[in-house]
Amino acid sequence: MTQADPPERVLVPTVRGPVDAADLGVTLPHEHLFVLSAEFQSNYPHLWDREAGVRAAVRQLSAAYDAGVRTLVDMTVLGQGRDIGLVGAVAERTPINIVVATGIYSVDGIPLFARFRGPGCAVEAEEPLIDLLTRDVTTGIGDTAVRAGLVKFACESVPPDAAAHRMAAVTAEVHRRTGVPVVVHCDPFEGNGLALVRLLEREGVAPGSVVIAHAGDGGDLGRLRALAETGCLLGYDRYGMTPFASDAQRNATLAELVRAGHVAQLLVSQDHAAHIDYLTPEQKAHTYPDWTYVHLFTKVLPRLLREPGIDEATVHTLLVDNPRRLLSRVPAPHPEAHSEEAHAI
Ligand SMILES: [Zn+2]
Repeated sequence: MTQADPPERVLVPTVRGPVDAADLGVTLPHEHLFVLSAEFQSNYPHLWDREAGVRAAVRQLSAAYDAGVRTLVDMTVLGQGRDIGLVGAVAERTPINIVVATGIYSVDGIPLFARFRGPGCAVEAEEPLIDLLTRDVTTGIGDTAVRAGLVKFACESVPPDAAAHRMAAVTAEVHRRTGVPVVVHCDPFEGNGLALVRLLEREGVAPGSVVIAHAGDGGDLGRLRALAETGCLLGYDRYGMTPFASDAQRNATLAELVRAGHVAQLLVSQDHAAHIDYLTPEQKAHTYPDWTYVHLFTKVLPRLLREPGIDEATVHTLLVDNPRRLLSRVPAPHPEAHSEEAHAI
């Protein structure tokens, strides 16, 4: 047969089932539906009305759909109250594809569930987390067939502490077994992103498969460039969380990285949650007035497009191509090609 084979179809798992990667469209790669303190919710059920919460999330997603969003990644993992039943109830009532993640969010060490058992622990044992997180990717979460498309952990210690070393080993093994990209919640202010990329690299994860989430909150351009030079993806994923960084600051450094040849490594999102029980809705509205699923579209992108070197094609790369490649489990291209020419711009 001499005819070229058609390009292989890549299917991305979503809550409603697999979706052709080519059909993902505009994608928000780091958001949340519900961030819940699970024990507080189960012990004090009067705190939050689940049904009303689902309805509110559906309404907010409808605004995102109207703004052009077709896919949203819910990065809520264990430690943030991931509840696949709630996510499923939303997915049934929105046209937006929802991709979910697995992993552990624990910024103060390994959760108690796994703290005393595992390699090097008081009870020397096999790592209990690897099979659990792998199951989320290969079999399904809980008693559902919903499979996770990414694996995440969190590290705010500078330099990365023992818990981060353990979680890097866990997520690297899940990545090796399944191919899902690794997303790390970092500390962008003290700046531990570079150390986390190197840590994961030592565990066998190529930087092109690593997202340093929240990197774009940091204002140190030299540090951001050094991070980008590794070939990792940088999360400009908290637009609207202005107490951490202004839109103008994020846009300025993002545009610098685009002009330096790193456009394929940048992800834009808002880290928004339809409901997060760390704050009352009133506190949330007061502290983060711009924090929504649509802030990017109403305020950020129109201003970003005024930056030199940014055009509609750049925005398409950020919102469509980069998330699609990430969710297709394809590493980001290494930025080495840009060195001479791009630096001269
Ligand atoms: Zn997040």
